[in-house]
Amino acid sequence: MNDSQTLLHERPARGALTKTGGFLTGFSHTLQPYIGCRFGCSYCYVSQSNVHRFYNGGMEWGSYVYPRVGIADRLELELAKMKSRQTLERSAIFMSSSTDPYQGAERTYQLTRNCLSVFEKTPPGLLVIQTRSPLAARDFDIMAALGERCLLNLTIETDREDVRRTLTPYCPSIRQRLRTASQARDRGIATQVTVSPCLPYSNEDAFGKLLLEVSDRVIVDSFVAGDGGGGKRTERTGIPAMYAGSGWEDWRSQEAALTLYCWLRDRIGERAGWSQEGFTRRARQVTSGVH
Ligand code: SF4
Repeated sequence: MNDSQTLLHERPARGALTKTGGFLTGFSHTLQPYIGCRFGCSYCYVSQSNVHRFYNGGMEWGSYVYPRVGIADRLELELAKMKSRQTLERSAIFMSSSTDPYQGAERTYQLTRNCLSVFEKTPPGLLVIQTRSPLAARDFDIMAALGERCLLNLTIETDREDVRRTLTPYCPSIRQRLRTASQARDRGIATQVTVSPCLPYSNEDAFGKLLLEVSDRVIVDSFVAGDGGGGKRTERTGIPAMYAGSGWEDWRSQEAALTLYCWLRDRIGERAGWSQEGFTRRARQVTSGVH
C-alpha cells in the first residue's frame, strides 16, 4: 500500500474529548484527531472495533484516514467548560487510543499540533501522547512547555527490524523511534517507551539495554494482557497465522514479555511498568488527586 492508495477524507469534528474506561481506567478522556490509521499495524485491535466497522466503508484497516477538522476549536470549548466546573486539574487525557496522532496526515493537517496549542493555554492534569512517529519531534516545543503535565509514550515493540517489517511494514523504523525517544529525553520531556505489544525480540539483555539507553521508563505489554479482551481481539487479526508462518513461539505466550519486564524491573524498579497498571499509573494519581 502506498500513500496514493490511502483514502483521505475530511470529517468535521462534532466534539473532541470522549469519556473513557476499560483498559484506560484512570484516564478521564481520550482524544482522537484522526479516524483510521495509516500505520495499519497487523495486530491493531482497533481493526476489530466498532469504530472501524462504522467508518471503514468496506476498506481495510490502514487504508483510510479521516482528519477530524476543527477538533482544536471543539477542544478549546470543552476544556473551558471543564475549567469552569473545576474538573480540569483532575483530568487525564490519552491521545490517542484508536489512531496515531502523528501519522503522515498530521504533516499537512496539524490537528495534533493545534490541540497541543490549546492544551498549552489550558493545561489538563495530565496529557499522555501515544505515538510511534518521529514527527512528534516537531512539537517538542509545546510538550516541553507543558512540563510534568505531559508524558510522551513512544511505542517500540521489538529490537528486530525483520519482525517490524513483517508485522508493521508501514511504521517508522526502530532506529528512528529510538532516536526520537532519546531526543525527547534530551529536551527534558517526560518520556517512556511502551513495548506494547511485546513482539519477538533478540534477547532481554540486548533489547533491555537498548531501551534504557534512550528512556528511564519502560512499559511492557502482551497481546493477552493488553488487547482489552484477554487476547480475543488479537485472535481475530492476522497475528496467529503470521506467528505460525514465521515459526515464532505461540502468540498467546507472555513469557518473553514477562522476561523483559523482570529484566527491566531489576534495573529500574518502579519505573518499569506492566500492561494496564503501568499505562494508567500516572493517570490514576491525577484523577484521584493523589500526586
Ligand atoms: S499505530 Fe496504533 S492505532 Fe495505528 S494501526 Fe498501529 S496500533 Fe493501530
